[in-house]
Amino acid sequence: MKIDVDVAVIGAGPAGSVSASMLAEKGHSVMVIEAAQFPRFSIGESLLPQVTECLQTAGLLDAVSSAGFQYKDGAHFVCGDLRETFLFEQKSAPGPFHAWEVKRADFDHILAQEAEKRGAEISYNTRVLSWKRQDGETLLGCRKDEEDFTVNCRFLIDASGFGRVMSRLADLEYPSNLPPRRAIFQHVKHHITSSDFDPDKITIAQSQMDLPYWFWMIPFSDQTASLGLVCDPNNEPNECLETTLAEHIETVPLLSKWLVNAEPVTVIGSINGYSCNVKNLFGDKFVLLGNAAEFVDPIFSSGVSIACRSAILAVPLIERELKGENIDWLREYEEPMRRGVKVFHTFVEAWYEGTLSRLFYAETKNAQYKSYICSILAGYVWDENNPVTRFNLSKLRTMANAIDS
Ligand SMILES: Cc1cc2nc3c(=O)[nH]c(=O)nc-3n(C[C@H](O)[C@H](O)[C@H](O)COP(=O)(O)OP(=O)(O)OC[C@H]3O[C@@H](n4cnc5c(N)ncnc54)[C@H](O)[C@@H]3O)c2cc1C
Repeated sequence: MKIDVDVAVIGAGPAGSVSASMLAEKGHSVMVIEAAQFPRFSIGESLLPQVTECLQTAGLLDAVSSAGFQYKDGAHFVCGDLRETFLFEQKSAPGPFHAWEVKRADFDHILAQEAEKRGAEISYNTRVLSWKRQDGETLLGCRKDEEDFTVNCRFLIDASGFGRVMSRLADLEYPSNLPPRRAIFQHVKHHITSSDFDPDKITIAQSQMDLPYWFWMIPFSDQTASLGLVCDPNNEPNECLETTLAEHIETVPLLSKWLVNAEPVTVIGSINGYSCNVKNLFGDKFVLLGNAAEFVDPIFSSGVSIACRSAILAVPLIERELKGENIDWLREYEEPMRRGVKVFHTFVEAWYEGTLSRLFYAETKNAQYKSYICSILAGYVWDENNPVTRFNLSKLRTMANAIDS
């Protein structure tokens, strides 16, 4: 069987569903090929205001804002006795200053359903196994319930996340220069009664600045929370995930206090070596969106922002290409995407070497610079009016040194 469509999309995560929804809304025939059955678990639960803005642009905001997700207005950083809070309303960039903390099974399902309402077809339980260009056609070999079929599309979006379908099939992968890390995570019923717990914020906690591990605590609207530990796999001798998580929690007094009555509600999970890189973000009649293109690190909750932003940037280009225009994908898509991702990359490096912690927990702070940093934590890494988006690592170190001295 061969199915002909304007656009095929691999993966119905945020990048796939947002792009499918926008293209279907414009009247294009869109088929999304999704390996899983939705709703399905996914990691990546703390959203940024940049996502809110993208959802607004894509016409998907009402569906998400009426779903009852936990409101989020900032981020709370904790290191031993030190504390720093960033409120998104203090960011320098214009645009929304709130987001949500979401169970991704529900969030991704809502976006996928919205894409279907706009006319996209989603084939669940279907895996893309092969890709070829032949006589001007793009042919995807797909398998559903042991049955093979082919999708012939005029344009292909790879939004397969960590599946990295086109990176493998078109040989685009190359290793990340970030050291390998491991994340261990679980949902818990938190039973927190402390007055210093604010569910409107993600908490990022460490015991000391120079230790190679940190925690996230992402509260949901039903008194559960996502708890995660990010650590250096080479430094963790214990094979047991539960023991590793529990032993590290004991090193952070605030978390130990908050989680004293916590009960697990999901099995513990882990993921290793998730950072990755690709040579190009596009190729002959295809483009890579979201995690399929690149994933840096979870510390700044940037993944869904990058996924949604890549969809917003790529969709108008795909439409022009479908109309027969020649698109300069390097200049119009890859360069702007990489510019924003590089800002997150610089911040990730500055975080792991302790430079950002020195800036965050400094006794005196420049309010203007705090608002620039807050913008980046809100996902506004493409804001050219923010000078910090142009800072490299050594400039951030100089800033931290100036505050310390
Ligand atoms: C430890 C950790 C913590 C994170 N925390 C955050 C966070 O707090 N906030 C945040 O914004 N981001 C976070 N992220 C990143 C976030 O998970 C991803 O960036 C985000 O899910 C990317 O969305 P996407 O649409 O690109 O891909 P995904 O959401 O991964 O969707 C890809 C889809 O493609 C499907 N697929 C894969 N292969 C195939 C195939 N061969 N055929 C068909 N379908 C296929 C998959 O089933 C999947 O549904 C975190 C990541 C990690 C590793």
